[in-house]
Amino acid sequence: MEYQCKYCGALHWLNEKLEKSPKRDPQFSMCCKHGEVRIPLLMAPPNFLYRLLISNDEQAKEFRANISQYNTALAFTSVGVAVDDNVNRCGRGPPVFRIHGELKHWAGTLLPKESSSPAYAQLYILDPRVAQQYRMQRNSNLRPETMLAHQNLIRDINPYAKVFQHAFEILQEHPGAEDYSISLRVMPGQDVGLNTHRYNLPTADEVAVLVPGDGTQVVDSCDIILRLHANESQGVGHGALQRVNDGHAAYSSLHYVLLFPHGEPGWHWGLRLFQPNHENPKRLSQTRYAAFRLQVRPHEKEFSIVLHARRLSQRYIVDLWASADQNRLNYLRKNQTKLRASLYGGLEDALSRDVNVNLNDIGQ
Ligand SMILES: [Zn+2]
Repeated sequence: MEYQCKYCGALHWLNEKLEKSPKRDPQFSMCCKHGEVRIPLLMAPPNFLYRLLISNDEQAKEFRANISQYNTALAFTSVGVAVDDNVNRCGRGPPVFRIHGELKHWAGTLLPKESSSPAYAQLYILDPRVAQQYRMQRNSNLRPETMLAHQNLIRDINPYAKVFQHAFEILQEHPGAEDYSISLRVMPGQDVGLNTHRYNLPTADEVAVLVPGDGTQVVDSCDIILRLHANESQGVGHGALQRVNDGHAAYSSLHYVLLFPHGEPGWHWGLRLFQPNHENPKRLSQTRYAAFRLQVRPHEKEFSIVLHARRLSQRYIVDLWASADQNRLNYLRKNQTKLRASLYGGLEDALSRDVNVNLNDIGQ
């Protein structure tokens, strides 16, 4: 892979070039559609995490072997999916992550139910020492020093740790108001710096806007609604768990905290292709986004944790695929009237012209 895309820096084999482009100046489409996909490259990983991903000492090996479990212990949101483990029981090949049914991310209330111990985002509101105890109680096979270092790292550099703490402080000022909630609306910077392809380190204020309310105002369906407690009497959307919309820019980074330790935003509905000559640039599709994110680039340009995280990488890639697939199915479901009308229109026309026509010859 000696050929580098001049737009996004992805490494390619020559035969991956667009057929029409010359060998002297090859152009590539699968990485960034020759410059039309312009999203920032991932930030350099923090030193500690970088060392654990590439070293061969015992701590690093243990971390990589259990990286999915560490990630779950440190994530802000949980993932609900039926995992099919049968495929790993027979045969000796590499581990496979296979799912069936729908894949969903869940955000909980900021305080646990009385009967249960805190988990996910709830742990970032607690005193760090107490949070570490809860994490180790649930994951006693993992190394306490590795867990503690990551916990401190995320509290330090991940803006969402501060966002959840801040939301908790605001909600605490309204202890009596059961309906009081906060919408977490993520605002990824549009000014990406086209030459550098780099993020500036986002601050908590820049990454998310907290919109307080009493539950009566209209909220964006993509918002994540934060509450102190579940309010079951309010019905759907007010329970202990709320589904995170996969069009939310923080959908991936709130769960895959070890892949996106700086809280880098992921795919969302607002992303567009870079088409300066178009009045209305096309939407950036999820598959195009995934193709960009999964490219190999020289490490000095982008060291992608996504490509070094073993089983956690597998999970993330399955997640990307499931989300794209679910959105495609949703589109088909919501546009039945339109789709059916255009699909059968041609057949009806043919039939009205000639009743003896064989419809199988015209289309399905
Ligand atoms: Zn490219």
